[in-house]
Amino acid sequence: MAAYKIAIVGAGPAGYFAAQALQNLTDENRVFEIDMIERLPTPWGLVRSGVAPDHPKIKTVSKVFEKIASDEKFRLFANVEIGSDISVAQLQEKYDAVIIATGTPLGKSLGIPGENLRGSLSAAVFVPWYNAHPDFVGVDIPLDADTAIVIGAGNVAMDVARMLALEPSELDPTDTADHAIDSFKKSNIRKVYMSARRGPEHAAFTSPELRELPKLEHTNILIQKADIEEAIVRAGDAPEKDVKSNLDAMLLIAENPKSEHERTMQFLFQHTPKEILGTDRVEGVVYSTPNGDVTIKCGLVITAIGYQADAIDGIPYNNGKVVNTDGRVKENLYVVGWAKRGPSGVIGTNKSDSTAVMELLVEDLKSPKNAGDISELLTHQVVVSQEQWQKINEAEVAAGEAKGKPRVKSVIRDELLKQAGL
Ligand code: NAP
Repeated sequence: MAAYKIAIVGAGPAGYFAAQALQNLTDENRVFEIDMIERLPTPWGLVRSGVAPDHPKIKTVSKVFEKIASDEKFRLFANVEIGSDISVAQLQEKYDAVIIATGTPLGKSLGIPGENLRGSLSAAVFVPWYNAHPDFVGVDIPLDADTAIVIGAGNVAMDVARMLALEPSELDPTDTADHAIDSFKKSNIRKVYMSARRGPEHAAFTSPELRELPKLEHTNILIQKADIEEAIVRAGDAPEKDVKSNLDAMLLIAENPKSEHERTMQFLFQHTPKEILGTDRVEGVVYSTPNGDVTIKCGLVITAIGYQADAIDGIPYNNGKVVNTDGRVKENLYVVGWAKRGPSGVIGTNKSDSTAVMELLVEDLKSPKNAGDISELLTHQVVVSQEQWQKINEAEVAAGEAKGKPRVKSVIRDELLKQAGL
């Protein structure tokens, strides 16, 4: 029986699905001892700090993650940063294979003037802020103006626009960070534009997300009917199923405009951002449109136009992704998830993707190295194990129960470590 030691760097969906694939590839000839290493004191990646808090059903996949982690050959090493604390090369020496599953945490930028003004930020900052990510607690999110613009037409833009446009008390029964709920309750924002540079037939968001918008109890949703009618003509007689489904959902919204609420979320199509205006802070966005330039005043601009990977020493990057061939990077180094293929697909997409890479990894394996593991590289780090993470998890859920929420997340690293008993 060959026992292979595998290190997975990054405890998000792609990392867990890689671990699950390896568990499923275990047979009478080989077993896998899996060490999952995570920079934060808490695992679950985007399921914890990306998925919108008003979408709790999507987060139930965390039960699958915990089942994977309950295997006796699985260990969690959270609160350990690869690249600074320990190098990728050190892991490669010790483990039979190292899998990078670190995602794409950086927001892409527009590259237009004014992008660095106060009040202009990326969804890569805004989303972890409202999701209680410890690194984003103190970020400056000015919510004092009456209008916000979200640039982009994907599901992240949709999440961001919805979070800004909903009545904040709708977040009370969610695990949104307390600091974010407090800020939203004090926010002056009443009008939220979501702008797409192309027409509705090219929108990247999906119809389930569109269909739930009219269910917002305190928000008008506005889509110009003419925009959709023109898009239906452009899409032709046999549009793709997803496009048709999106156009149908948008037409339904356009035909049933609501106007009784104080808050409004409005879709703009064929609006290409040219410049963000302002001197000390954001004052508006200039768009080029088929009818010429248009300026929309606002005090907050959030770009949700895609993500890219963050560099880790020892890993080759290009175009915001880890350079790879079908997940193989070099020697015994592999990559899965958004770091591999870019930021596309839903959480479940990572299951098939990670499984395919693990099949290649297993093909590449020789005899086990028996060269030790990460525990020999840890010197000063305070490590959160699976058992200790479970203590955090239980404390968060218990704190949530008292408030009618699924959990209350601590945003201070030291507090998280204290909950872990460290
Ligand atoms: P996305 O789906 O790729 O959408 C990116 C959007 O940004 C597109 O509308 C794109 O427009 C626009 N864009 C790109 N560059 C731009 C520029 N320079 N100026 C203006 N607009 C620009 O990415 P995402 O929204 O970040 O989502 C990532 C993945 O996560 C997607 O697969 C998404 O479905 C998934 N996700 C799913 C959920 C859910 O299931 N509820 C929630 C969140 C995210 P063009 O098409 O014109 O390039």
